[in-house]
Amino acid sequence: MSFATIWEPSELKRVASTEGVLVEQLQRLLDAGRVVIPRNAKRAGDSEFVLKAVGERMSTKVNVNVGTSKDYANCAEEVEKALVAVRYGADTIMDLSTGGNLDETRRQILKEVTVPVGTVPIYQAALAQVGERAVVDMNSDDMFTAVRKHAEDGIDFVTIHAGTNLVALERLRRSDRILDVVSRGGAFLVAWMLHNEQENPYYAEYDYLLELAKEYELTLSLGDGMRPGCIADASDRAKFIEAITLGELAKRARAAGVQALIEGPGHVPLDEIEASVKVIKHVTDFAPLYLLGPLVTDIAPGYDHLVSAIGGAVAGMYGADFLCMVSPSEHLALPSVNDIKEGTIVTKIAAHAADLVKTGQREQARARDETMAHARKNLDWDRQLELALYPEEAQRIRADRPSESDACSICGDLCAIKLLREFLKK
Ligand code: SF4
Repeated sequence: MSFATIWEPSELKRVASTEGVLVEQLQRLLDAGRVVIPRNAKRAGDSEFVLKAVGERMSTKVNVNVGTSKDYANCAEEVEKALVAVRYGADTIMDLSTGGNLDETRRQILKEVTVPVGTVPIYQAALAQVGERAVVDMNSDDMFTAVRKHAEDGIDFVTIHAGTNLVALERLRRSDRILDVVSRGGAFLVAWMLHNEQENPYYAEYDYLLELAKEYELTLSLGDGMRPGCIADASDRAKFIEAITLGELAKRARAAGVQALIEGPGHVPLDEIEASVKVIKHVTDFAPLYLLGPLVTDIAPGYDHLVSAIGGAVAGMYGADFLCMVSPSEHLALPSVNDIKEGTIVTKIAAHAADLVKTGQREQARARDETMAHARKNLDWDRQLELALYPEEAQRIRADRPSESDACSICGDLCAIKLLREFLKK
């Protein structure tokens, strides 16, 4: 299956040049399903749209989730969060709104944001029902109608938990998990299957989903409903059986001419990240892997952006392609604009750290670090600030604590770099 016809040759050339790969190489990776470039057919003529390639040999991308909740539904603020995220380096935005006017929020974000935008349509399908049993009262039409509605609006990629099926549910029932299901979409579908005693419609009617996705050139982000929600649950059978199913679904997507990526965990201790990433990559034929985190400890609420960035950098080193930002307010509350900014910054740093060792990106990524090292050696502060990923904060700190010497206020005239430069003379 050739996907390359979805984009103009000039667009592919631009993406290849940004990523530092040959166009032919990019085309091969797209055709093999190892790279995706999400864009809804409806956004094809939009000259401001920025194409983002996600997958093998591409720079590690960062997604930022925004969206209203029932308790806090302010459309303008979610648009502001999306714009702040893009300003600080988000490659894609997901609108996970569940409160207020969902259509308006989604459309406003799409209008303002020039990078790919994703959603989880099942949230809207569930919210279209009324009462406390809304989630289990949806029918399969509601679920597919929500996908079509989002695609019709121009959404570029959608999370669909098609692998959260009866087989995965059976493994969950037999497991000793502490936190059974922490994925919101996954929980909706598990509750739905248990209540209705039927297979997940997105799994049972997957061919229909593929037709729909094909029509809009919608990229499927195959969701991991069995994502572990704590360190103790990190690597169990429910998670891996679902990953195997996701691999089969990704294969069917490729055969139908639909781009697909795979979502992954979650909470994973450092020493299980390598196995987690590699197993998922292998059983999905190396489809692009999109991770939430992984969070490497459960006990740092308020700092989960850092917890997640540690895991993200390690996962990126082992082959994860796409990191979903976790904000400082994870597990606590809906993020503020500043939480989004902080979360985006640390996730971008994790992505860059991964690129420094990623095949295909290593050289390109290292060039900037090397230039920074020379600027440091020369005590060239202007150049250092120019090269900084986030110069604003570096500038603020430097201005706040000036030094009388040409070094910095940590060692002043005892500057190690200065001293060795003078005596080593090389
Ligand atoms: S003063 Fe110390 S910390 Fe500052 S540049 Fe020199 S060696 Fe580095």
